Amino acid sequence: MSQAGLGPGGARRLLKRLRDLMAGAGTAQERLNQIVRLIAADMVAEVCSVYMVRPGDVLELFATEGLKQEAVHKTRLAIGEGLVGDIAAHSRPLALADAQSHPNFAYKPETGEEIFHSLMGVPILRGGRVLGVLAVQNRSFREYDEEEVETLQTIAMVVAELASVDSFVGPEDVQLENAALLPERFEGLRLNEGLAMGRVVFHQPRVSIRQMVAEDPARERSRLDEAVERMHRAIDDLLNRADLGHAGEHREILETYRMFAEDRGWLGRIVEAINTGLTAEAAVQRVQDDTRARMSQVTDPYLRERLSDLEDLGNRLLRHLTGDRTAAQSGGLPDEAVLIARNMGPAELLDYDRTKLRAVVMEEGSPTAHVAIVARALGIPMVGRVKDVLSRTGAGEPIIVDGEQGAVVVRPSEDVREAFVAALNDRAARQAQFAQIRDLPAVSRDGVAVELLINAGLLIDLGHLESTGAKGVGLYRTEIPFMIRSAFPDVPAQIEFYRDVYGRAGERPVVFRTLDVGGDKRLPYLEMADDENPAMGWRAIRIALDRPMMLRYQLRALLVASGGRPLDVMFPMVADVSEFDAARDLLDREIARLREQGGVPPSVIRVGTMLEVPALYWQLPALLSRVDFISVGSNDLMQFLFACDRGSTRLSGRYDTLSPIALRFLGDIVDACTARGVTLTLCGEMAGRPLEAMALIGLGFRRLSMSPGAIGPVKAMIRSADVAALAGFTRGLTTLPDHAVRGRLAAFARDRGIAV
Ligand code: PEP
Ligand code: MG
Repeated sequence: MSQAGLGPGGARRLLKRLRDLMAGAGTAQERLNQIVRLIAADMVAEVCSVYMVRPGDVLELFATEGLKQEAVHKTRLAIGEGLVGDIAAHSRPLALADAQSHPNFAYKPETGEEIFHSLMGVPILRGGRVLGVLAVQNRSFREYDEEEVETLQTIAMVVAELASVDSFVGPEDVQLENAALLPERFEGLRLNEGLAMGRVVFHQPRVSIRQMVAEDPARERSRLDEAVERMHRAIDDLLNRADLGHAGEHREILETYRMFAEDRGWLGRIVEAINTGLTAEAAVQRVQDDTRARMSQVTDPYLRERLSDLEDLGNRLLRHLTGDRTAAQSGGLPDEAVLIARNMGPAELLDYDRTKLRAVVMEEGSPTAHVAIVARALGIPMVGRVKDVLSRTGAGEPIIVDGEQGAVVVRPSEDVREAFVAALNDRAARQAQFAQIRDLPAVSRDGVAVELLINAGLLIDLGHLESTGAKGVGLYRTEIPFMIRSAFPDVPAQIEFYRDVYGRAGERPVVFRTLDVGGDKRLPYLEMADDENPAMGWRAIRIALDRPMMLRYQLRALLVASGGRPLDVMFPMVADVSEFDAARDLLDREIARLREQGGVPPSVIRVGTMLEVPALYWQLPALLSRVDFISVGSNDLMQFLFACDRGSTRLSGRYDTLSPIALRFLGDIVDACTARGVTLTLCGEMAGRPLEAMALIGLGFRRLSMSPGAIGPVKAMIRSADVAALAGFTRGLTTLPDHAVRGRLAAFARDRGIAV
């Protein structure tokens, strides 16, 4: 028996015969039977089987050559069960000379497969989803080589096409479709704020490929070259669009994206696929399928982003090859469109007509995803990590997107729609009010001034200083530029970046927080620890002190960038005074270095720390004699105080930050700082919620840093409050035995006419 691979010529012949078969007559089942027979013969295998995924995550044997025919439509495996289930679960091929000795082997007696020893199986993929598994088996302990695995993957793609044309998995889905007509609410992750209502448009309905198999690889290669050329030109045009600012992280993302379009490795893989007998478009699709399968395995966020850029490019290239146009390009985007996508690349978002696009909802995504950063630059509301939204919505259905809460409602009832419109109007009216008080001071009725600052993380956020009238940036999270690069930004690159921040902030002060990476914020070029509890693991100052040059370079860049202006530096996640001392020492060394080199030091240097680890509270006496300021990171502080994951939706609300214990803790911090005259700010999310901010001011906080959208509401609250009365009331709450005092605070605000 020949065990040699088919070789490109052989693979091409097989594909051609498959194509003829698909075009021939017969039912889907008949054609599938012929296909497995043909593949088995051509690949010199005794068995060839196709398993398809049925609703309920079950793989069912749909056709086989070589196994017992009685097993067809009977043998079922859960995804993850057995070797076939394993291939589906991980969407990756398996090639085993001795399949039965594999720990995941599951014996199905009805198939009679005990006599076959070797197995090679590949997922049948379409649009990134596993539709089924294609497997061949041999009696001998056959070693399948890489080329054979490749060939089987190409064949699986052809089978996927057949599955979509004939849709042989069907009737059991009907119930599900009916159920999907009811209104449905989805929870997701807030990626960009804003509210929107519109109609569902699916991002990028698949490009349909009519021709899978080609006779003449040389011609396909030149078609590819031409399409790549056209794609490059179109990308350049896209990135030169006027509505995109010329500086900022989104720019950098798009530049890298453009570089990827020229990636030789990627194009090389497409050419290889053409050489096996595919048309240029089928070859792109083949590489796309691989990319998607790899994406499902990759957890590193940076790598995922890169793969998602590649996917974006692949789709683009497919369109240039097939002449298909997106809804965006053909001007077909309806008014008030809400895009729904599994994921999207940054440039794909730019394809759409901004005047018609209301919001974007994705099944994947993270706050630092490239598309999210571009959405923020363009001001498009975006919600991510919305599970199953693609399969549970229909094109054209009405949809509400709440970018503030990270929620989506599909097919909203009349009531919900009315409530939403009311909320929108209300918001617009309130925003008009906030615009009116923009230039008025944040001073209470009894004359107590509160400094309102914004939290920022992107250059684009600095524009909000002007639009909100905030006094400065209370927390500049410096990690994003580090996260979007493939290598650690060197000192000159960092200097340029921080200069830009200074330039945009003008006279307003900016508190730069040094790198808070680790946990879920991974840097691709820094090996991170796989801690069981990443939020409490090797992150922030802990990494900085173990890798001191990282911190020194950052401090060096900040010192230079200040150019003789004041510099405020803050260290994150300090849990012990000695950590502050060590970080401060590195700063002092950098100041000395700058002086030695004749550089201009900042006119003033203020050094502070975040207070976000409870243990630091009991070290305040020592800490306060060392720092110029403290900023309470209530997001982390409360998470650690209550041992309650800040990102867990199940736990949100279980422990109230407006509880006597939390307020007492915060009040004690205020007292300690006031006694020593140390500047105190609170920069966690609670600072931006009017009721919480009211309580904080009652406790004595006089500087609050928040997301820009919160400045107006919090200022309105302050201007309507009487702080003396509020202080007495709030302090009185800290000794109550209650679980939460939210209701009491709300009642106080109501009675006194405080705008919360
Ligand atoms: C905090 O923990 O409250 C904080 C402001 O820091 P971050 O949200 O970046 O962890
Ligand atoms: Mg924090």
